[in-house]
Amino acid sequence: MKNWLLYFFAVFAITVTVPFVSEKAAVADPVPKITFFSGGEIKELSAEEFALCVLAAESELACSFESKKALAVSARSLAVYIDFNGYKHQEFDICSDPECCLRIADPDSLSQPIYEECKKAVEETRGEVLQFERLPAAALFTYCAGSGTRANAELSYLCAVSEPQECDVHITEHSFSFSQIASALPELSSCTPEQLVKNSFIAYDASGKCSFGVFNGICLDASSLASSLSLPCSEFVFSFTENGAEITCFGAGNGFGLNLCGAERMARAGKDYDEIISFYYPNLKLNKIY
Ligand SMILES: [Zn+2]
Ligand SMILES: [Zn+2]
Repeated sequence: MKNWLLYFFAVFAITVTVPFVSEKAAVADPVPKITFFSGGEIKELSAEEFALCVLAAESELACSFESKKALAVSARSLAVYIDFNGYKHQEFDICSDPECCLRIADPDSLSQPIYEECKKAVEETRGEVLQFERLPAAALFTYCAGSGTRANAELSYLCAVSEPQECDVHITEHSFSFSQIASALPELSSCTPEQLVKNSFIAYDASGKCSFGVFNGICLDASSLASSLSLPCSEFVFSFTENGAEITCFGAGNGFGLNLCGAERMARAGKDYDEIISFYYPNLKLNKIY
């Protein structure tokens, strides 16, 4: 008797749930979702929520409405790209480590007027994303690119864009001792500080920033040097001192795609978000996908 009842309930459950499930699928949420690891937990965020959380983190720099809209498009595009292609982690999509290099903040932590403006910037661009050859593009963005953005070796559509005016605000100094250099660059740990200083050469590009260095016979380009030393920027000047090295960073962030510092300057000069976007992503197309 008991088994028979169970069977009845099972059949009942199936006949009731099946039409419900298919009906739900027919009106499925078109907004892609990604997972972000932050504060020890994994948060699931829709592309729209992600855009709002990125704006919340960067609203101090992107304070004009048009630069907020440009950033909303970049962040949403990146979420759509990540949903489509996956990203750098297994258990979650992205986080704020130096490799992912993304900051998010809780929009509820913003003051009411800034929250309203961020929300409006996301809503007014809802579903608008950047595509390359009709596929989602990883529309990376950077805090401040100094004299300009860099070309990305893996994402060929992210090209170098020079700033008409180099940023003189986001300049920071960083010092490293010889032992810190040796632990960051293990290939150099066998040479003495004297050998390192004597047998090293730093090459500079046209804008006066480090393009590569040869350290006791080992050649390192600027980006591998920056990542080995965990520099918070992509443009820098390197010099040896008595105790190690002194590095001046021009700008902050990965140096790819939308330059927030430059976007803000363009917005203040009266440019619209789509003009800002086409300046930083000349190879990408802006389309509304939902
Ligand atoms: Zn990460
Ligand atoms: Zn700047």
